[in-house]
Amino acid sequence: MPVSPENPTLIDQINALLPQTQCGQCSFQGCRPYAEAIASGAADINQCPPGGDEGIRDLADLLSIAVKPLNTEFGVHKPASVAFIIEQDCIGCVKCIAACPVDAILGAAKFMHTVIAAECTGCELCIAPCPVDCIVMQPAPVGNIDPNRAQKSAQFKQRYDTRCVRKQKQEAEKAERARKKKQALLNQPRTIER
Ligand code: SF4
Ligand code: SF4
Ligand code: SF4
Repeated sequence: MPVSPENPTLIDQINALLPQTQCGQCSFQGCRPYAEAIASGAADINQCPPGGDEGIRDLADLLSIAVKPLNTEFGVHKPASVAFIIEQDCIGCVKCIAACPVDAILGAAKFMHTVIAAECTGCELCIAPCPVDCIVMQPAPVGNIDPNRAQKSAQFKQRYDTRCVRKQKQEAEKAERARKKKQALLNQPRTIER
């Protein structure tokens, strides 16, 4: 049967139940790779700390298997949080923007940056790259917390997917520019030394 939005694969269905923070705590490079590992039997359903017990229950229901406790080797479930930038300390290095999987940070080189709280997944991936430690986590606004869990996951996934498409396009454009530059060099007439 062809795959379509009306006919999602098991991987799609598992991925739709994951929080979409792309934090990597499950030991995979994001939510979809973890969904693929669950579907193939390479990973257990209890490796996602952001999803917590509720997420494990949803996965167990989908797969008709027993619920189990979160494996805390992968981390502990924490209350929803968002990043906050102490703007007076920000040096505008843009490293946090490069690290954010959902484009939740606004700013430009040498200007202070700010987090769009409603778009922040709380993944904490921007914390480590900040050279001046001016990013802190704060409790999430009410709109980021249950009972909007599924809705927020869908929102985060859409922003992540949009970013991935944009980055792929940028990479393709960069490769094309490099190819043209190389071609132009090869086409240059060579001077013969006597
Ligand atoms: S949200 Fe869960 S499934 Fe997604 S990357 Fe983080 S730990 Fe893995
Ligand atoms: S702002 Fe930081 S914590 Fe929020 S989604 Fe982006 S990287 Fe994650
Ligand atoms: S990584 Fe830190 S210093 Fe650099 S732009 Fe982001 S918040 Fe500012």
